[in-house]
Amino acid sequence: MSESLFTKILLKKIPGDIVFENDRIFAINDINPQAPVHILIIPKEQITTLNDLKGEHKELMGEMFIVAKDLAKKMGFDENGYRAVINCNMDGGQSVYHIHLHLLAGRHMEWPPG
Ligand code: 5GP
Repeated sequence: MSESLFTKILLKKIPGDIVFENDRIFAINDINPQAPVHILIIPKEQITTLNDLKGEHKELMGEMFIVAKDLAKKMGFDENGYRAVINCNMDGGQSVYHIHLHLLAGRHMEWPPG
């Protein structure tokens, strides 16, 4: 599998704002933010889409949500709220094929999304 855009950012082959990193997960500021805070939480393992998840990813996916809520709390958005969402394939609006959790905060979110 070739290196995804996000893996290239992780490996510092292209620039990116890494705001969190541990052994399994990293997080970057989105280059085109859709809210005052827009962070992408990304597993270091290059999983392509939600469709590619296996049982062995249960803990990893859970940890991604824990990272999201910890970052939201650290930035003071836990009470007002925020959105954490994963897009899958074309109709889901996915454009980078390395699974990632969007953390959006700092404004009121509408529902349903566009
Ligand atoms: P998706 O559309 O796949 O759910 O989300 C991909 C996200 O990656 C988009 O929100 C887009 O703005 C962001 N993105 C695309 N290219 C780059 C880049 O080079 N750097 C960063 N930090 N974010 C990017």
